[in-house]
Amino acid sequence: MTIAADKPAESHAFEADVARLLHMMVHSVYSDRDVFLRELISNAADACEKLRYEAIETPSLLGSAPDARITITLDEENGQLRVEDNGIGMSHDEMIEALGTIARSGTRAFMERVEANKAGEGSQLIGQFGVGFYSCFMVSDRVDVVSRRAGANEAWLWSSDGKGSFEVKGLDPADAPARGTRITLHLMDDARTYTSRWTVEKIVKEQSGHVPVAIGMIDKPG
Ligand code: ADP
Ligand code: MG
Repeated sequence: MTIAADKPAESHAFEADVARLLHMMVHSVYSDRDVFLRELISNAADACEKLRYEAIETPSLLGSAPDARITITLDEENGQLRVEDNGIGMSHDEMIEALGTIARSGTRAFMERVEANKAGEGSQLIGQFGVGFYSCFMVSDRVDVVSRRAGANEAWLWSSDGKGSFEVKGLDPADAPARGTRITLHLMDDARTYTSRWTVEKIVKEQSGHVPVAIGMIDKPG
């Protein structure tokens, strides 16, 4: 048996459009950075919904923890914010595809609209065009995504500073959630407010109140 954690890290370049999008996000949609949290929570909820759907045919995917859950962890000391779900998770190939390319044909039009209109319609457009995940680079120097697809043994770590490339490597399954995805944002110095419970609770209430999955919030112990 090959254990994912024994394989060396792979480096991948972002697709050209992703690199362009990331550059644009950081430089011109800056005015409303809060939207990154809505995007991460929406992806987490989508992942829980996908698992629920797949589990209709394959109930064993739910294991002993059937309830969908999103957990936000605030780590003020280390300037990190974590959003974790116990949804469907991603395999190695799904991660590279989903977090390195843009499948959508509307993305070029999106970028042109944002570049033409710097007045602030950008944050709304992010959600509309489904380029949500990349918005976390508006507030992060580095983003780590640990994921394990429901039913799989292997777990993977995707990591990037959003500047052209990302790395993927196998993880010891003991260091990964039983299933689902854990996204850790290493916050920029000027984005440390996103470890404040007051700030994060307010954004979650305002922007994610309708999400059909329980959202918990914990302070990193110690
Ligand atoms: P969209 O949600 O519109 O597809 P995003 O940029 O928000 O676009 O996310 C890109 C893709 O990354 C998703 O379609 C999904 O395949 C994958 N993804 C992101 N977050 C998660 C997650 N928490 N769990 C599983 N897959 C995820
Ligand atoms: Mg999304």
